[in-house]
Amino acid sequence: MTYSVVVIGGGATGTGTARDLAMRGFDVTLVERGNLTHGTTGRTHGHLHSGARYAIGDQESAIDCMEENRILNDIAGHCIENTGGLFVQLAGDSDEYFQRKLDACAECNIPTEVLSREETLSQEPYLTDDVKRSIWVPDAAIDPFRLAVANAADAVDHGATIETHAEVVDLVVDDGAVRGVEIERQGQNYLGEGSKGDRETIRADHVVSATGAWASQLAAMADIDMEMAISKGAMVVTNVRQIDTVINRCLPKGEGDTIIPHETTVLLGANDDPVDDPDDYPEEQWEVDLMIELAAELVPVIAEARMLRAYWGVRPLYDPNPDSTKDTGDVTRNYFVLDHAERDGIEGFTSIVGGKLTTYREMAESVSDHVCDVLGVTAACRTHEEPLPGSSDPAALDERMDDFGLRSPIARRSTDRLGDRAEEVLDVDGPNPTICECEAVTRAEVQDAVEDVGADLNAVRLRTRASMGNCQGGFCTHRLGAELYDTHDQATARDAIDELYQERWKGQRHALWGEQLSQAMLNHMLHATTMNHDADSAVTGTAIQFDAFDAGRQES
Ligand SMILES: Cc1cc2nc3c(=O)[nH]c(=O)nc-3n(C[C@H](O)[C@H](O)[C@H](O)COP(=O)(O)OP(=O)(O)OC[C@H]3O[C@@H](n4cnc5c(N)ncnc54)[C@H](O)[C@@H]3O)c2cc1C
Repeated sequence: MTYSVVVIGGGATGTGTARDLAMRGFDVTLVERGNLTHGTTGRTHGHLHSGARYAIGDQESAIDCMEENRILNDIAGHCIENTGGLFVQLAGDSDEYFQRKLDACAECNIPTEVLSREETLSQEPYLTDDVKRSIWVPDAAIDPFRLAVANAADAVDHGATIETHAEVVDLVVDDGAVRGVEIERQGQNYLGEGSKGDRETIRADHVVSATGAWASQLAAMADIDMEMAISKGAMVVTNVRQIDTVINRCLPKGEGDTIIPHETTVLLGANDDPVDDPDDYPEEQWEVDLMIELAAELVPVIAEARMLRAYWGVRPLYDPNPDSTKDTGDVTRNYFVLDHAERDGIEGFTSIVGGKLTTYREMAESVSDHVCDVLGVTAACRTHEEPLPGSSDPAALDERMDDFGLRSPIARRSTDRLGDRAEEVLDVDGPNPTICECEAVTRAEVQDAVEDVGADLNAVRLRTRASMGNCQGGFCTHRLGAELYDTHDQATARDAIDELYQERWKGQRHALWGEQLSQAMLNHMLHATTMNHDADSAVTGTAIQFDAFDAGRQES
């Protein structure tokens, strides 16, 4: 018998769970109120932890991180850049803490190497002169967008259905058991199906809530009281890559002390402050200033860098032993499978809460094991053995560099992103111009994404990184819109361009000073004035006043 499961939430945990359950033979439907990675997964630091950060205070999480770091390198190599990480001790920072970090890493099976001041500065020359020494650990950078998309794609390959822009507005509860979900569409799904406002009931043998910071709201739909210990963090993106290694400060309490190289940029962050509502919390300028100030203590050139944008995320933390005096930084990063039959007397419903992006696969495995136990299914987990689409043969990627007649840096970045799908995507008949220069994205990659997600340019962005670089969409948004014209009408393409602009603007307005302000003005001039976007007669319904132009000409 095939059992049906609804997974709520299209972040790393939800897509990972959908993949795991689909691989074990379940009939899976994933529902996500926004696009994939709409929640915290799309707002992380992108740090694939070695566990060293948690080795002293939270050893269980540290051990999990190291184990998953190894597994993800095997199954998701094309989503990871193995930068390594340094825990940097500055003059005046505690020797005793440095030694405790080393000992704790050894206890958690995390490989380390102590680098002298000279070795540290030779690896990262922009670090401050105050460096005393550092500990090397196998930290890395991971792309959360590609990771979630690869999990979702593999889930679909194993028969799952993915419904994006489908918000769960209620749980179907009969006789003390959850029997399904009621969704309301917030727009078309990624296949262009449905319309905003449509309602539908999806019945299932079991419902898994992988809604992270929103888990208590979902539980409340079944009258379950489940308090989360959620906390916000601000992240700031610089315009160039000042460092090539993940940099952490080797200090006991870490806020804003991690700097991560990510593609062409560097990410600074994050603070850790409790919030009540994951959809409504203040995004404050002092947070952005503090992240820059703390990062510049380690890498002084960051103080002079152009900041591209800032964004905030909310950690889906859960505290099994809540204590109002506890700092959110001290809440465990461990994850919990909450069986609502055992905990609250409601059958058919399980929440997976807490954890990290780094441990998403293990979280998915644990909750899928639980669903199997409940429904009496014996199929074993295979997600740690079977590579995600695109990552089975990383060595072959390098060979693709010359194959597609592209300049090497573009070919390298395309093939890094696409993994073993590179040949299939890039081997096109016609010309393959570069659509986004900052991130080296070609038409073939954009068209491949459009085929997958339709006219949703934000979803194209998540798959390709187009518009995520230095110009923040200034030079490529209209080209991306033009790529829709063959398959979509003008109104759809215009809406898609607007949505992409709004998404890019959302993060930029927090970093508008100096050169970034000039870049924002340039983008405004290009699109609002040169392209007449802010007063387009096709949009506003008002005719262009040619008389005014004529009058101007006569006067001059
Ligand atoms: C600032 C910051 C930095 C971080 N950095 C790192 C890091 O570098 N490394 C690391 O390992 N971890 C990091 N984390 C933690 C990590 O990002 C999260 O633990 C992880 O991404 C959570 O994934 P998730 O899938 O559980 O939740 P989410 O990604 O939040 O997914 C939950 C999804 O549920 C959806 N949803 C909610 N309600 C509904 C509904 N009613 N109907 C349908 N869908 C719904 C949401 O839209 C959302 O997409 C960071 C967290 C923060 C806040």
